Amino acid sequence: MPSLLIVDDNVQLIPVMARMLAPMGQVRFATSGEDALAQMRQQPPDLVLLDAEMPGMSGFDVCQVMRNDPALDLVPVIFVTGHDDLGAELRGLACGAVDFISKPVSEPLLIARVRTQLRIKRLTDELRRTATTDALTGLDNRGSFDQRLQAEWSRAERSGSSLALVLMDVDHFKRFNDHYGHPAGDGCLREVASAIRDQARRPADLAARIGGEEFAVLLPETDEDGALQVAQRIRAAIVARALPHEASTTAAHVTLSLGVACCRPDRQTAGLTLESLMAAADHALYEAKTTGRNRCAVARMDGVSNGAAAATAATVTAAQSLH
Ligand code: GH3
Ligand code: MG
Ligand code: MG
Ligand code: MG
Repeated sequence: MPSLLIVDDNVQLIPVMARMLAPMGQVRFATSGEDALAQMRQQPPDLVLLDAEMPGMSGFDVCQVMRNDPALDLVPVIFVTGHDDLGAELRGLACGAVDFISKPVSEPLLIARVRTQLRIKRLTDELRRTATTDALTGLDNRGSFDQRLQAEWSRAERSGSSLALVLMDVDHFKRFNDHYGHPAGDGCLREVASAIRDQARRPADLAARIGGEEFAVLLPETDEDGALQVAQRIRAAIVARALPHEASTTAAHVTLSLGVACCRPDRQTAGLTLESLMAAADHALYEAKTTGRNRCAVARMDGVSNGAAAATAATVTAAQSLH
């Protein structure tokens, strides 16, 4: 059910509009701009009906703040106002409103306009989901991963927190396809994705399929120990699923190799960049592959002297990583 937020300083008007809109969704209300923003940040609504004239923050101010907040930028706003002048309407549209309704509010007009905006919102959400999701596994896709990596890198730079990355690659997957066929290969990738998703548990964690049989997990505010724990859990979860892989020379079952890298982007003295984090995790993954597969390797990034330099990797053996 869509959620609607009515924002108006006139407490008599709120129940009137709430009654009109009740059949269309779950209705919440706020009596000031500040309260409205606080509620939206808790849980973004699908549509805001915003009074332009309020003491304190005006509706225009609220709309402006929303447009500069990535979490609220795509929430549509309909201005509801006593103004019946072109100036106010233009000002509302200029700060990003999708529509405009004058008081006194006409019930059929309100319902028709809200219905249209909710429909557009539903389609937009659906499009965005499709554009960011990998169709085979339901994880985020490469584009979404790149975007989040950039955003989390910037956030970590500002806050001084650490950012960890785990890159994963299915072992001997070409042999799996050759042996069991491509449809079975796709099924295997789904299983692997589901095991990965189960282990990236925090709300901020992002699991993505970034290539054919390559996956990544981005772990904001996570240090090396934490990232290694997640990587070990993923490795163990794949082993526990015991997906038969007769053609593998590593084990009788499907296994993963994992590369872990972690850094503090605010410590620019080491010349770290987002690309060096990726390169380090990739280097660690290569290390895991060449030292026997079905294991995690950690990149030590302390020794990186410039952004392009690869990190040295220390391997954690499969036996160790089980504990
Ligand atoms: P390694 O242990 O060194 O990673 O060996 P590998 O065979 O997994 O590595 P390689 O990169 O040579 O092969 C990857 C294979 O993954 C190639 C292709 O057959 C398969 N593959 C890539 N994308 C898909 C997909 O979407 N579905 C299926 N079924 N197979 C895929
Ligand atoms: Mg008012
Ligand atoms: Mg590969
Ligand atoms: Mg592979």
